[in-house]
Amino acid sequence: NDLEKKVKERTKQLELANQSLSEKNALLKSIDESRRELFSNISHDLKTPITICIGYLEAIKDKMIPEEKIDIYLNKIYRHLNSLQHLSRGLLELSTIESKKNSYNFQLTNPTEYFRNLLSHYDGNKANRLHTMVEDSLSPIMADPEYLKRAIYNLIDNAIKYSSNDDLPVEIKVFEENDHLFFEIKDYGIGIPETEIPFIFERFYRVDKSRNSTIPGNGLGLAIVKEIVEEHRGKIKVKSELNKGSVFTISLPTEKMKKLESKKN
Ligand code: ADP
Repeated sequence: NDLEKKVKERTKQLELANQSLSEKNALLKSIDESRRELFSNISHDLKTPITICIGYLEAIKDKMIPEEKIDIYLNKIYRHLNSLQHLSRGLLELSTIESKKNSYNFQLTNPTEYFRNLLSHYDGNKANRLHTMVEDSLSPIMADPEYLKRAIYNLIDNAIKYSSNDDLPVEIKVFEENDHLFFEIKDYGIGIPETEIPFIFERFYRVDKSRNSTIPGNGLGLAIVKEIVEEHRGKIKVKSELNKGSVFTISLPTEKMKKLESKKN
């Protein structure tokens, strides 16, 4: 009977080991697939503007474009080169962030001071549309000031970019609830269709290329935000309604929260 028990136990162990091996294989396969997809996206995003620029430049060189229209084509070339520059910056940023995963410089941070300072120094396009409310006396958090700033500024850039009509306000609130710090940013812009929400944090994902064709971007901004928030042991959530607007919320555990957690363990 003892032997039977042992055999059963061993069989169970082997089954579990096999299961985790096949889970690991499935994970490796999916990583490999997303890497391949990523490569093909990057290649496409690089190739298209380069091909267009070369085409225009050759046409100018071969004098196929009338003198009075050259400026129009130079402007087009400039715009494509600008988007390439944007893309290469995004890629560099994402790869730096990934390679520095373990070298974040976390510091005990007073969120009231930090966010007031950060928000008053935002100098992107149309900063005057920001309406901000940062609560007094927020509990401290552990944060890397530079990385967190990148994440917050990316969210602000998006809120402004995707609600560009009519100069609508962008509302920001920083507050504390249940031992978590919340950064909430609300816009009254074009919104995101519900079916697209699960994908917007993926690299290079842009909702419906046609609606975005006049709005510059490379689909890396939110991937960068998510990476940074997760390194801070935080979460990011989105609520959105098409043509009404979106609310992005980052929550970060406060130091109070961490003390509670370590007491429990
Ligand atoms: P990018 O803005 O460069 O396209 P992001 O990764 O920042 O890339 O965003 C991914 C997609 O999510 C965008 O293409 C856009 O369609 C959608 N999106 C992000 N933020 C907002 C927002 N505040 N309102 C509406 N759509 C948004």
